[in-house]
Amino acid sequence: MRIRAAVLRHPGRPVTVEEVELDPPKAGEVLVRVVAAGVCHSDVRYADGELGPGHWPGVLGHEGAGVVEEVGEGVTHVAPGDPVAFCFVPACRSCRYCLAGKPNLCSVVAEHGAQGMLMDGTSRLRLPDGTTLRHGLRTACFAEYTVVAAGGAVPLPRELPLWQAALLGCGVVTGLGAVRNVARVQPGESVAVLGCGGVGLQVIAGARLAGADPIIAVDRVPEKLSLAREHGATHVVDAAGEEAPMDAVQRITGGGVDFAFEVIGRPETIRLAWDVIRPGGSAIVVGLAPDGVEASVPAIEFLSDKSLRGTYYGSGDPATEIPELAGLALAGELDLTRVVTHVDGLDGVEAALDRLRRGEGARTVLLVDADLAGHPGAAHRGS
Ligand SMILES: [Zn+2]
Ligand SMILES: [Zn+2]
Repeated sequence: MRIRAAVLRHPGRPVTVEEVELDPPKAGEVLVRVVAAGVCHSDVRYADGELGPGHWPGVLGHEGAGVVEEVGEGVTHVAPGDPVAFCFVPACRSCRYCLAGKPNLCSVVAEHGAQGMLMDGTSRLRLPDGTTLRHGLRTACFAEYTVVAAGGAVPLPRELPLWQAALLGCGVVTGLGAVRNVARVQPGESVAVLGCGGVGLQVIAGARLAGADPIIAVDRVPEKLSLAREHGATHVVDAAGEEAPMDAVQRITGGGVDFAFEVIGRPETIRLAWDVIRPGGSAIVVGLAPDGVEASVPAIEFLSDKSLRGTYYGSGDPATEIPELAGLALAGELDLTRVVTHVDGLDGVEAALDRLRRGEGARTVLLVDADLAGHPGAAHRGS
């Protein structure tokens, strides 16, 4: 079928919305009508070529929600008409990592997905001239329709508006997972969050749900610090202000935090995360650093039981967590609306990427099908 999609032809060139060909789903795949999609900082890394070679030409977008249009042979967990959120690690459930309870590290996804291919190593997308297009982060949801592996379409409760559900499959799973599955934050433990964009705000929300106190948000953009307060930060630190963030965290905690979450992906802030934890504390790197970037810490401090660790996609099982998080949103315990600072149509993708490059706002949600998205301001797109 002929669809409109946001195509990255080459890093450094603007992403263009153009007509592409989408083949029907094969066995074990699902065709989804995309309704809404979140624009994430990883899309910027992807569009700017910072994830290394082998990611273009392709269709971007890995966070979104839609409605199942058609299912391939053998797919039974969803049916046409079902609302779904995208999961960009459609675990195979049979590799060594999946069997060990680490589906976020699925080796089949790592093998083919890194090349932007579906689970059988092939693509359903091509340009009208026949050039194969990659499925950006295995999802390619900045498009009117997409074909994903069955595990890439996770069923949702019908009551949750799709413009909100669109955020579940990356920012929310990643942010809350870092708190719940990696740090396992307990009530009363102290947390610092470095970087308060779309994912950082979800780390803060997760820390609040876990009963962390204090929750110290650090950013250099005042608008993001006020969003951080709305999401549950007890203290905010302006990294561009007079007091160094390190000093501010020491002043607030009197000795450092139990957990610091780095949600930017820069060596300086990874080092800051290390510096602000107390002896025995953990610095957790959530941010996606460009390919080739190195980070370092003073090694003698490993003697104080400090640890530095990574996480990918919440380090849990998104297929079970996405419906659970949708339930928390419906119960009013998790707010999915305030992180959305901009809404636009599919054609607004390059402008949304530019806002992220400038550090402006938190999440843009592209309302690909404004009628189905259920956004109250859909009539005022481009706001
Ligand atoms: Zn993302
Ligand atoms: Zn697997």
